[in-house]
Amino acid sequence: MQPDSRKYEKFDEIRRQFPILKKNIAGKRYIYLDSAATTLKPTCVIESISDYYKYHYANVHRGAYYLSKKASQQYENARETLKRFFNAGDEYDVIFTSGATEAANLVVNAFCEPLVREDDIILVSILEHHSNFLPWKLLASRSNAELRVLPLEPSGDFSKAELKNALSSKIRFAALTHASNVTGKLQDLQSVVANLQQNGAMVLIDGAQSASHFEIDLESMKPDFFVCSAHKMLGPTGIGAVILKKQHLENAKPWKTGGGMVLTAEPLSWREGVRKFEAGTPHFVGVYGWMRALDFLNNIGLKNIQEYVSSLTAELLDGLRQINGIRIFASETPRQNAGIVSFLIDDVHPHDIAAWLDYNAIAVRDGHHCAQPLMEYFGVPGVVRASMHLYNTKEDINQLLSALNVLVDNQQEIFDRLYGKEVCNFASEALPQEKVDLPDIEIRGIPDYCGDLLRLYLKVNNQKVTVETEADICIPCIASLNVMLAQVQNKPIGRVYSLCKSVIEALAANNTPLGINGLNTLHRIKEDRLSCITLPWKTMLCAAEKYIHQSRPRVIVMKPPLKASSKRLSVSPARSNFSPVADIPSAGRQ
Ligand code: PMP
Repeated sequence: MQPDSRKYEKFDEIRRQFPILKKNIAGKRYIYLDSAATTLKPTCVIESISDYYKYHYANVHRGAYYLSKKASQQYENARETLKRFFNAGDEYDVIFTSGATEAANLVVNAFCEPLVREDDIILVSILEHHSNFLPWKLLASRSNAELRVLPLEPSGDFSKAELKNALSSKIRFAALTHASNVTGKLQDLQSVVANLQQNGAMVLIDGAQSASHFEIDLESMKPDFFVCSAHKMLGPTGIGAVILKKQHLENAKPWKTGGGMVLTAEPLSWREGVRKFEAGTPHFVGVYGWMRALDFLNNIGLKNIQEYVSSLTAELLDGLRQINGIRIFASETPRQNAGIVSFLIDDVHPHDIAAWLDYNAIAVRDGHHCAQPLMEYFGVPGVVRASMHLYNTKEDINQLLSALNVLVDNQQEIFDRLYGKEVCNFASEALPQEKVDLPDIEIRGIPDYCGDLLRLYLKVNNQKVTVETEADICIPCIASLNVMLAQVQNKPIGRVYSLCKSVIEALAANNTPLGINGLNTLHRIKEDRLSCITLPWKTMLCAAEKYIHQSRPRVIVMKPPLKASSKRLSVSPARSNFSPVADIPSAGRQ
């Protein structure tokens, strides 16, 4: 499918309403392909917020004066506006939260925790973002319930066979993503929700990625809970909601307590309805801005947005398929895709791809996308994700594809230019590994988000260290690993520990570290890559610390009987159980 330029002309005008897109970065046109993380904001939303602070600002629910009463009215009306946006009928109400994450946590803690019983089944899918996975995982472990994880068909749909299988058991709660933040795939949930509910389950739908890409009809889908975030819908940050069936309000217990949610504090008596779950001053300015974003989306029409974005998705998928060594992790049916395409290129780490795109002023995400269960399912530590919205253009897609093609054809020169020749040389040298059988310590180093994955196996013989590693890491991280391994193999464990500590401190303090061959070069590229460069040293430090801690002999210290006159204990009892062995710095974990 080719985006028809006349048909989609109006999207050029729409794009002009996003001021940040006028930006150039290092003289290059800024191309924003990270809308699944957060969408850009049109001028009308930005200005509505500023106008609100300038001309309308007053707290809600508390004041007897004109502006406060008006603010309260607008805030309460927004519940209805949001319901209309998702076609939720009278049986639904809205609780405002700080976002989809808080909404999912609220549902779990306030609505499900009081009902869960031992051996209940909680169903989630492998696609879940951590925000709709971790709250359920913790609920299951707190209550001895079973967390069952639904796998996928090759198409990216939930496995029908497994769903059928799951429906033969009694599921208490199901929490399913509507559109994945990694594959973009929209799930057809209407019959799934109905079947689960007939089977007695309460169902939460995570609409964070679907809410501003598809016309959502809660009247047909009928979930018990639907969660979303304004900032992924062209609205402000810090505001979101759960749209929920009113029937669940009464028996739920408040999760947060504070102002505005009780009738009387003594004796305790909760407010009726949704306000029982909105303790404290709500983010009413955020709600106001969100309502402007909904107007904006409604004026364009969700159907038109979906059609336009899916034309871009088709264009991107077609282009990616032409690239040698590409692996695509996305719904290949553009109409069922929320404008999200994840991919990998053989032998190039996602972080290095993202760094090259950043050099070209193209903003994408790389890493695990807070969907680690899915990454494990795919057997990769991370992927690159390009995600689009109504302000993207065919030219954006072409520029992305052309940057990727240039990368595939000129890897060596590109990374030499990006990181410097010396760093690339360090990265391409064979790692000074030693084979480690039966390691004393196995440890996995994981940085914050970028998807670098490092496994380290440590063996210590006569206090000397032998290390073997398995790594799927970016170029700066490999270069640093190489430097680190050269420094630690066959060195005394205590010295390795102190060296790693000093290097980490020196890197963090922006000092040129310790005259170690190679580190000075790495230091020059560090800035935003500090976590990649530090990862091997931190992982080694952790392994050394663990070994030292494990091997430290436990000594029973016989305390001398206290003299009757002594009022002071001279030895801290917690520390006195451990005594450091020679060659080990005392800073080891106690
Ligand atoms: N669910 C999905 C599918 C998401 O993509 C995200 C955010 N990436 C969330 C939930 C959480 O949204 P927020 O961070 O706005 O709370």
